[in-house]
Amino acid sequence: MSHQQIDQFAHRLDKGVRDSVLGGSAAGTEKRRQVLFGDLPNADSLRALAGRIKQHTLEHLDRYLEAAEERLIDNGAKVHFAWDAASACQQVETLLRERGVRQVTKSKTMVSEEIELNRHLAEKGFDLVETDLGEFIVQLDGDHPSHVVKPIIHKNRSQIAKTFERCGLGDYNDDPETITRRAREYMRRKYLSAEASITGANFVSAESGRLCIVTNEGNSRFGLAGARVHIALVGIEKLVPDDRSLSLMLNLLGRSATGQNLTVYTEFIRGPRQPEAISGPEEMHVIFVNAGRTETLASDCREILRCIRCGACMNVCPVYRQSSGHAYRSVYPGPLGAVLSPLLAGSARFAEFADLPKASSLCGACNEVCPVDIPIPDLLLRLRDRAHREHAPAAFDDAPNLKPWAMLAKSPAAWRMSLRAANMLNIVPLGFLPFGPLGRWTSQRTLPSWRGGRYRQWAAERKKQKNNPS
Ligand code: SF4
Repeated sequence: MSHQQIDQFAHRLDKGVRDSVLGGSAAGTEKRRQVLFGDLPNADSLRALAGRIKQHTLEHLDRYLEAAEERLIDNGAKVHFAWDAASACQQVETLLRERGVRQVTKSKTMVSEEIELNRHLAEKGFDLVETDLGEFIVQLDGDHPSHVVKPIIHKNRSQIAKTFERCGLGDYNDDPETITRRAREYMRRKYLSAEASITGANFVSAESGRLCIVTNEGNSRFGLAGARVHIALVGIEKLVPDDRSLSLMLNLLGRSATGQNLTVYTEFIRGPRQPEAISGPEEMHVIFVNAGRTETLASDCREILRCIRCGACMNVCPVYRQSSGHAYRSVYPGPLGAVLSPLLAGSARFAEFADLPKASSLCGACNEVCPVDIPIPDLLLRLRDRAHREHAPAAFDDAPNLKPWAMLAKSPAAWRMSLRAANMLNIVPLGFLPFGPLGRWTSQRTLPSWRGGRYRQWAAERKKQKNNPS
């Protein structure tokens, strides 16, 4: 696939979808700004500190992973390691099969999306229901999430009401409360019958082995309350050194993700149910999933593994807002996905996603909002360079020759003349513009109307006004 497809995807995007994505992401950005800076005057230094903690954990991942494994085993959990997606799916299947489980609930976990667990378990005859409302709607529609926090940011309530009607969850009704109530009634029956519950983990403390899981609907609690088996799928980068780090991460996560001081439900799980507990799974299995992470860790873009999946970078990204998450052709959209997807794909499949790092204006907004201070624009540039050098020169074949531009930019007179000439483009149908190498480039892009020269005009008028205020 070539990088033009993000442009083309955006160009073809249904207006309703574009409006939903734009509205949802802009609202998320504004809420984050108000809550983060309203509550935490030193938010930027906390972001830097969180980044250093995560980076330190990554640099010593072997040590922290061993420590977490030991603590979890001490706490009564069983620990497994999965090298890749196939092995992770197989391990879940085996655990369920050996315990005679057919009915499963699952709360939101991005790593399960990565490994396509739902598809695998459905093919093997398991009855799995997503319990996060957004993921549940995605499941009913046979769709894919388009945002890491708001999986259905691309849908409006009328579409959701139609889905519910089609799936036998009541007559058409697009009242959000009704939709939520119907989903709740459906899920509660599933909670009662499920024998196992699958979760992810937002963080794992290497000090105590505590899994920290956050949800806004309490769905992972419901799932775990009735199940006898708990399987947690955890990317190996989810570790933090100690319990103390959790408070910093949680304070930043809720505010960055949804503009909440704290996500509504925060669970800390150390192991399976203790003898004195009245509910909870008798067995707990933690599967640490690699799936491309060690290769990413060995790369010069390892900082991306600090990510705590808050979604703030996609909310603020002008490319994401115009193109939606599905344009990125991978589980992780937006600036996060533009870096992480090519890396997790590994060297063998890097070329498939090598165009994604080009889907950025390099405005730097993603770095400014990132709660763990990931230098995303730098990583995008490194990946562009790598793609050009090693893997996908074809993806760059159509890049225009910038030498003529450099010549013009060096001469103010020539630059002015070129701006005037470029205004002519607006009266030439762009379909006739292409010739030579520019042709290939423009044939797969939608050019906006040329607006060059206005800044100079504006600056000249402003100067005139200043000199002559009357
Ligand atoms: S890269 Fe940063 S801003 Fe983007 S989802 Fe991850 S933690 Fe959030």
